[in-house]
Amino acid sequence: MLDADFFRRWMTATAASVDREAERLTALDSPIGDADHGSNLQRGFRAVTATLEKEAPQTPGAVLTLAGRQLISTVGGASGPLYGTLLRRTGKALGDAPEVSEEQFAEALRAGVDAVMTLGGAAPGDKTMIDALVPAVDALRDGGFAAAGTAAEQGALATTPLQARKGRASYLGERSIGHQDPGATSSSLLVAALAEADGE
Ligand code: ADP
Ligand code: MG
Repeated sequence: MLDADFFRRWMTATAASVDREAERLTALDSPIGDADHGSNLQRGFRAVTATLEKEAPQTPGAVLTLAGRQLISTVGGASGPLYGTLLRRTGKALGDAPEVSEEQFAEALRAGVDAVMTLGGAAPGDKTMIDALVPAVDALRDGGFAAAGTAAEQGALATTPLQARKGRASYLGERSIGHQDPGATSSSLLVAALAEADGE
């Protein structure tokens, strides 16, 4: 079973990973964006860990809804509301149970990813974070955290040959082809952090 501490560790491990990879995320956002994705998420996840420490929410759902709210209020750009919605909707789906099963979490995360697709209008293949998140939730249900991490990373890598159909990169049309999507890459960090949180 997964408790509030697990979800706190997930957010802390994501923040550490985003810190380590911030320059790379911003570099990916240079040719097909405005070179702010790393700094956007670094600011957001630092604020998330600070808020979680201060407010110490006691249930999985409360940890994720608070984290999502914090991302929405601190991350400028498209990715803030999208990541915020992902975590808030996932948290809402977990309700106020003190512990949840991996299956319940997989179901809740799917609701979160669906909410991101509704908000942003992106489908798989549009070269966005959805291309890492959808394979991750599929793999999570069948294979657990490690499989989800691998699927998200493969999904992020597979965005390179795609033409962007949503977000800033879509303004480039065919010139967006040949670059890995920054948001799919950060999503793969978020998903990979689940195995880290689980191993501690
Ligand atoms: P901005 O594009 O406003 O500068 P960021 O650089 O922080 O915001 O985030 C860019 C990432 O957001 C993209 O790489 C893409 O993965 C994701 N993104 C942008 N628009 C959408 C959308 N409509 N649906 C899903 N993801 C999106
Ligand atoms: Mg950007």
